[in-house]
Amino acid sequence: MKRVYNFSPGPSALPLPVLEKAAAEMCDANGAGQSVMEMSHRSKDFKPIIEKTESLLRELMGIPANYKVLFLQGGASLQFSMVPLNLAAGESGPGEKKAVFIETGIWAEKAAKEAAKFAHVDVRASSKDKAYTYIPQAPAAQPGDAYYHITLNNTIVGTKWAQIPDTGAAAAGGAIPLVSDISSCILSEPLNVAQFGILYAGSQKNLGPAGVTVVIIREDLIGHAPSKTPAMLRYDIHADEGSMYNTPPCYGIYVIGLVLEWLKNLGGVPAITKLNQEKAGLFYQYLDNSKLFYSPVEKPFRSLMNIPFIARVKDAEKRTELENRFVKEAAAAGLINLAGHRLVGGMRASIYNAMPLEGVQALIQFMQQFEKGVAH
Ligand SMILES: *Cc1c(COP(=O)(O)O)cnc(C)c1O
Repeated sequence: MKRVYNFSPGPSALPLPVLEKAAAEMCDANGAGQSVMEMSHRSKDFKPIIEKTESLLRELMGIPANYKVLFLQGGASLQFSMVPLNLAAGESGPGEKKAVFIETGIWAEKAAKEAAKFAHVDVRASSKDKAYTYIPQAPAAQPGDAYYHITLNNTIVGTKWAQIPDTGAAAAGGAIPLVSDISSCILSEPLNVAQFGILYAGSQKNLGPAGVTVVIIREDLIGHAPSKTPAMLRYDIHADEGSMYNTPPCYGIYVIGLVLEWLKNLGGVPAITKLNQEKAGLFYQYLDNSKLFYSPVEKPFRSLMNIPFIARVKDAEKRTELENRFVKEAAAAGLINLAGHRLVGGMRASIYNAMPLEGVQALIQFMQQFEKGVAH
């Protein structure tokens, strides 16, 4: 069997023990005589699977009892619409309160753009002026805000919020719910769920295969959608039906359960945090000392999960040529998917929870060799 080190931003590498367990149970899961793919979602065979996945997620993230966990579809991208529809839309047109966004990257831009279809959007701060290479100061929440949205880890540009904004104290009429897209950092380091009203994440980065969207929502935020909201886009319906209003992505939910089991056996969030810090620390240390590559991101805001890097070549055409050669030669050496996002160029190593330390070490070693072969 050949296994590469996969630095893809998503869908991304899964832990080998998870794939092996899924393979072993492919045709007969838990003695049911059938694959999880073939099970009725309402059967006695599937019920313990979805229950196990939810309880492991609650345990690992420390999700308080007054939050619902939903397993939906449509990716994080559909949450860009569902959040404003359920929290800031009026019966006819936008609601009275504002949907506040802090623009820290392309996903945050997209989220704000979708919200503007249903809500009054206020982009209260942005780091677009410096190509999103930092996280701006978070302005205070205001009483007329419906919710306050941040993208906790910016997958494409490789930044993360070092401090969670406090949206509570400023509001006269009570706390403004903080909503966060945590697609590319869920379970990568500790997070105090109680600081947020809604957290959402597509599954294909740190949780499992593509196709599941995890939504963690405080109960008082459920039930505010305008009456004409399609059933599939209402949090209340999904919550009331236990994520089974329609057929959920059963197999994905099962694999997420295996990933969570793997993470728990590893020592949970404290253990993976330590490993993630070690991996990212090694890679940034290498970049900061390299004569050929550098990180464009300001130090306090560097992501643990997605690390873009650029070759120090002045001439743009020569730089692209060198970077293309790097990506190609790395792939030939079993280090795949290192090209940067198509909108920003350069290179990027995504080192999610499932990337072992050895993968990062192999990448650094390859880059050191590559550097030696390039004349300055
Ligand atoms: C990948 C990603 C998305 C898009 O997720 P889909 O599941 O493809 O909709 C949105 N936000 C962030 C932060 C991401 O990393």
